[in-house]
Amino acid sequence: MPPSQTPRAGRAFQAPRGTRDLLPDERAGLAHLERTAAGLARRYGYRGIETPFFEQTEVFERGVGAVTDIVEKELFRLQPRTEDAETWALRPEATAGIARAYVQHGLHTLAQPVKLSLTGPMFRYDRPQAGRYRQFWQWDVEAFGDPGPAIDAEIVELGLRFFREAGLDDVDVLLNSIGDGACRPAYVADLVAWYRDRADQLPPVERQRLETNPLRLLDSKAPAMVALNAGAPRLVDRLCEACQAHFDAVRAHLDALRVGYRLDPGLVRGLDYYTRTAFEYYRRGAEGQQQALGGGGRYDGLVELLGGRPTPGIGFALGLDRTILALRESGRLPAAEDAPLAVIVGADGAATAERLRLATDLRAEGLPVRADLAVRKLGRQLETAGRDGAHFAVIVGEEPNGDHVQLRDLKAGTQRSIAITDLARELKRAGSSHHHG
Ligand code: AMP
Repeated sequence: MPPSQTPRAGRAFQAPRGTRDLLPDERAGLAHLERTAAGLARRYGYRGIETPFFEQTEVFERGVGAVTDIVEKELFRLQPRTEDAETWALRPEATAGIARAYVQHGLHTLAQPVKLSLTGPMFRYDRPQAGRYRQFWQWDVEAFGDPGPAIDAEIVELGLRFFREAGLDDVDVLLNSIGDGACRPAYVADLVAWYRDRADQLPPVERQRLETNPLRLLDSKAPAMVALNAGAPRLVDRLCEACQAHFDAVRAHLDALRVGYRLDPGLVRGLDYYTRTAFEYYRRGAEGQQQALGGGGRYDGLVELLGGRPTPGIGFALGLDRTILALRESGRLPAAEDAPLAVIVGADGAATAERLRLATDLRAEGLPVRADLAVRKLGRQLETAGRDGAHFAVIVGEEPNGDHVQLRDLKAGTQRSIAITDLARELKRAGSSHHHG
């Protein structure tokens, strides 16, 4: 039956709102970033870790903060199927789960700092828009057990290097210190009083936030708030001695690395657990927008919040989806390198077993080859091999001598006879100097 007459067996579905399928070209872009991240993790000494995609909800309520947007509005809560008292949520970020694992497995007994790296999907029930999805990928690194300041600089520099090696050379870092338990409470009290005096200028959502999470008002991007915030008291002017010394030393280390950064006193980050160093990565000229490429900071109180002993920590989370978007925008997204080195074609269209067997033997030798498995004329098989971007076509069944085949170089347009026993060696030699695609 021609396709037009095929009755529709069922309805067609769409991926859930806010999620995307990564089709092969885009999957290759993500693979490029995963490789870049893995290579840097290896060079900088961050070891791989995986944690579950979901955790007990409380891990995020405590570890991220119950009054943050991420937990209040965006947490993907799972409906339990059992009578279990536990409730779960999909991870909105990686730090809380990794800190939970650090405590659970007693990683404080290892040599400190414990430096960890994780790449994977995160989930937030956010309003979907460009660069904001309900499932998105992050590269996350964490270092536990080092109070800094040198490691703060190491991590800030590592993030910049990631973007540079991924292919973006216009990424800047914004830096701030948000103090700690010694200096922040008094500052926050003053800040609340300052905003209360100006309550009539606050949009309703900010007025509400003032009661629950006042620091967040500082990084509001609402135009009225940006203007108001320019005159707000700044925590960097009120740091306690220890936080000031730490901040100065982080900056000195960045200077020693020749890492340029910009101070942004309004940068507070959305998460409750941050202390002292906070930073965000932006493409040059995009700093005023919501679209940070990544961010991170120090969280010296987190491990204790999750039941461990007091342990300093610092890390970052870089958004891979937004990095892919930025790479594509600037024409720097590398093409998928998945063209076969060779395609096995045949003079006898019906001899598919012969072509498949030769391809299987070459694959066993480690070579990326495709066999043309369609019963069709040689000319059509060769056309498809060219369209695949293959460097070579191996033509079987044209040689009077059955243990030889024709090796056609599709790029150079040359062709010669070769013994099948020499084929793998010859293709390997050519493949090592051949760039796919
Ligand atoms: P955050 O923990 O919110 O600072 O997120 C760190 C990075 O993850 C951000 O800078 C973004 O690049 C990325 N990110 C966060 N939320 C989303 C989202 N909903 N969709 C895509 N990327 C996101």
